[in-house]
Amino acid sequence: MAEEVVRELRASFAAGRTRPAEWRAAQLKGLIRMIEEKEADITAALHDDLSKPSMESYLHEISLAKSSCKFALDGIKKWMKPEKVPAAITTFPSSAQIVSEPLGVVLVISAWNYPFLLSIDPVIGAIAAGNAVVLKPSEIAPATSTLFAKLLPEYVDNTCIKVVEGGVPETTALLEQRWDKIFYTGNGTVARIVLAAAAKHLTPVALELGGKCPVIVDSNVDLHVAVKRIAVGKWGCNNGQACIAPDYIITTKAFAPELVDSLKRVLERFYGKDPLESADLSRIVNSKHFQRLAALIEEKEVADKIVYGGQTDEKKLKIAPTLLLDVPQDTALMTGEIFGPLLPIVTVEKIEDSIDLVNSKSKPLAAYLFSRNKKLQQDFVANVPAGGMLVNDTALHLANPYLPFGGVGDSGMGSYHGKFSFDCFSHKKAVLIRGFGGEATARYPPYTAEKQKI
Ligand code: NAD
Repeated sequence: MAEEVVRELRASFAAGRTRPAEWRAAQLKGLIRMIEEKEADITAALHDDLSKPSMESYLHEISLAKSSCKFALDGIKKWMKPEKVPAAITTFPSSAQIVSEPLGVVLVISAWNYPFLLSIDPVIGAIAAGNAVVLKPSEIAPATSTLFAKLLPEYVDNTCIKVVEGGVPETTALLEQRWDKIFYTGNGTVARIVLAAAAKHLTPVALELGGKCPVIVDSNVDLHVAVKRIAVGKWGCNNGQACIAPDYIITTKAFAPELVDSLKRVLERFYGKDPLESADLSRIVNSKHFQRLAALIEEKEVADKIVYGGQTDEKKLKIAPTLLLDVPQDTALMTGEIFGPLLPIVTVEKIEDSIDLVNSKSKPLAAYLFSRNKKLQQDFVANVPAGGMLVNDTALHLANPYLPFGGVGDSGMGSYHGKFSFDCFSHKKAVLIRGFGGEATARYPPYTAEKQKI
């Protein structure tokens, strides 16, 4: 099956079907039509998979996917144009250009937490760059996966763009094939499997992974605004099941009580007195992840540190927004990515100490700072390595298509969004064009003593 799919796509790519700008534009228009006509089905699938609130589905998946299609549609003709670069004196006379060439047949393996956006967004880049593509959505979000399998053939060219559904066996079979690029979104353990499979064929990869995203909160802030932005970036993003959701807060010992109080107030305002009943919070995706999260807060030395929340409902797979204060650094909560509604707050003596604390862990996908202090902002930008960063807000940096989105170190490699998606799926071919003049005789043997004087 996997072999047949790749064979068919290779034939389509070799025939040149995917190269013309017109084909690329037609596919992107097809995706826009699909999003517009099937918005209700997409919202329903996301609700089935995660009980994702429809407002969140619209803001974070559907509208971002549509903007991404439109941005690519507006950009492709310009992006496809060979980029003229200066001719060097060493090659005089000549002209030089960089040609963006499609890579060929590419594989997109997607994750469950934003199952619509994380599937379609890399596919948009692959199409814009003129590739044939297989999408393998996550089996952990089965309603969205099935919807892709049904809808894509109705809206785009099925001889060049295909969906293969399935879990580990199906993905393993796909990974045995030779691809021209593999774009993987998910966790670091599977990323290593993907990378090892890619190595067999020298296939380039983009790995969009996660990590522990820190939020440093200084006392020099508009606290009312800051806590709303932290809360919406954590619980308003799939109830914390988001790669760029705040994983932990760092603040000073002196400021922590005020910050905790403000967070409690905003949580109650957003999700009410009984958050397990709130329709504005996604559920935990499945019982495996529920058990994993519940176990994190059942540990005695962690349970003792809960200052808000902590309620769980296993039947409904719901966990309430939970704040914890000064959990020991060697607990599972503080060492691994949380990926759920638990938010530990770590305290330091001086806010400047927070940078060393962040840098004692792996490089995160996103890092956040709330502060009016310009010097602290500059230190944060200069001294914290991270996939991306945002000052005085959370998560929003991914909505700017002029910024690359991707990780560094343990949070991944390669980036996409906007033109970066086009570049991610293109080879930058160096092209030098010369005429027959400008012969430099020193180039040619025999290398006489006279020539060597030059
Ligand atoms: P997941 O369970 O959906 O797995 C991701 C993909 O890997 C799926 O398509 C799945 O079928 C495939 N897969 C799983 N096991 C495999 C195996 N043994 N061999 C081959 N393929 C396999 O998602 P997940 O990994 O739980 O996703 C959560 C992680 O992803 C978190 O760490 C999160 O931070 C990260 N993430 C990153 C981004 C980003 O854009 N950087 C976005 C979302 C999630």
